[in-house]
Amino acid sequence: MATKKMLKFIDRPQAQPTKRAVDERAEDFLEISRPYILAKAEEQAGRCSQCGVPFCQVHCPLQNNIPDWLKLTAEGRLEEAYELSASTSTMPEICGRICPQDRLCEGNCVIEKDFGAVTIGAVEKFITDTAWEQGWVKPIVPVADRSGQSVGIIGAGPAGLTAAELMRVKGYEVHVYDRHDRAGGLLTYGIPGFKLEKPVVMRRVQRLADAGVVFHQNFEVGRDASLAELRARHDAVLIATGVYKAREVDVQGADGPNVLPALDYLIASNRAGFGDAVPEAARFDAHGKHVVVIGGGDTAMDCVRTAVRQGALSVKCLYRRDRANMPGSAREVMNAEEEGVEFVWLAAPARIEGGAVVASRMRLGQAGPDGRRAPEAEPGADFSTPADMVIKALGFDAEDLPGAFGAPELSVTRWGTIRVDHKTMMTSLPGVFAVGDIVRGASLVVWAVRDGRDVVPAMHQWMRAQLATAKQEAA
Ligand code: FAD
Ligand code: SF4
Ligand code: SF4
Repeated sequence: MATKKMLKFIDRPQAQPTKRAVDERAEDFLEISRPYILAKAEEQAGRCSQCGVPFCQVHCPLQNNIPDWLKLTAEGRLEEAYELSASTSTMPEICGRICPQDRLCEGNCVIEKDFGAVTIGAVEKFITDTAWEQGWVKPIVPVADRSGQSVGIIGAGPAGLTAAELMRVKGYEVHVYDRHDRAGGLLTYGIPGFKLEKPVVMRRVQRLADAGVVFHQNFEVGRDASLAELRARHDAVLIATGVYKAREVDVQGADGPNVLPALDYLIASNRAGFGDAVPEAARFDAHGKHVVVIGGGDTAMDCVRTAVRQGALSVKCLYRRDRANMPGSAREVMNAEEEGVEFVWLAAPARIEGGAVVASRMRLGQAGPDGRRAPEAEPGADFSTPADMVIKALGFDAEDLPGAFGAPELSVTRWGTIRVDHKTMMTSLPGVFAVGDIVRGASLVVWAVRDGRDVVPAMHQWMRAQLATAKQEAA
């Protein structure tokens, strides 16, 4: 039964957290939204109509128990709301910040069309941020000692960290190997601070380290150990390496010194935010430059908004389709436009030359095999735009992992992603599992968390079977 605190969506307008003024937020890399105060979170949670079939929950990849934690929040029972939220997610405050809610939970909220969705992401963030402040986020306590069995996890992104937490809870020794110097994967070095402040990620990592998860940073599998060596070291191995082969802009001049891969640019900016010395800092700094970003996804959005904060003279985003057909989140496009980014729709680079991008005007032709109308160049409609810095942000494919890991028997799809048994998430190699972007292709943080959560029962079962076999052999 819904309480008197709920179903207030008719009288109470939707109120997302207020955003900081554009001038102010362009000066720093802090998150752009101000946090809710308690009364606001309670008020907004109380707009939920407590649907019998909650479509918000159905469309949340984690199937978070949204109506129940909204109700607990509206009733002022925040600690219980936190417990419930944490029971399905290892990082609710992170998903609350960076999930594209307009395509997931909020986009499917039944009151969205007529009244504006319940602000699920903002309430989710509020609940767990408050839990951290109040000390409700408790240390991880492993439930049992699993007799020294250990798991090796390759990749410290959201998929690997989630599996690390849940395997540690089960009492296994957990070792996480990552080629970066800090854990977090794209949460740390891809996504900029104005979407996700870094202390929010680091406190999650620290909680795992405090629970005995061993992090091996600057450790690249394929360079510092082969997959076979890790398999010999651990009872099971999980591959959670993400996808990092950047798609290329195939035009004349795309290999010039002022043409940067998006991730190199974002890593340099994130490193500067940590206070690290950045090699070739001037090359990666947009200050005083005309910047052109090529691409229309979330990576491109992060690049244009980073360039604004670095003090670029102008920032343009060139995308070959139109606004309605761009893959990036509509919310992020709006944020970028507010911050002064100019979107040039239906435009693709033809060549990059001495301080300019020459681009072709495009139009949308027939639908291709993927159902999307293919862009084609309009003859004789090229134009030139000044560009002291060009950033290539066309997305990512999988690297050649069987080659890099020295494991040709590791089966991959024709896209290079790892082939798994979808029930067990085991790869073609016994005891080697895989999750996250390296299985799905470039995806979302919330799906990586979901995979990291889902693989744990299968790994646990595998470990138990290994132990039983070892005992039988010893008997
Ligand atoms: P990753 O986060 O990529 O982590 C993989 C880890 O494996 C990395 O730390 C890497 O160093 C390590 N690794 C790789 N190879 C090796 C090796 N050989 N040895 C050791 N370690 C290795 N998603 C959202 O939901 N919201 C967003 O706003 C959003 N913004 C994004 C912005 C950018 C710029 C990018 C690139 C992606 C964004 N995404 C966003 C997507 C999201 O970040 C990914 O889907 C998610 O991080 C995938 O998680 P993962 O754990 O599979 O891999
Ligand atoms: Fe919505 Fe993402 Fe939170 Fe699920 S995890 S409730 S999709 S913000
Ligand atoms: Fe509440 Fe919207 Fe979910 Fe219905 S769909 S339970 S109104 S948040």
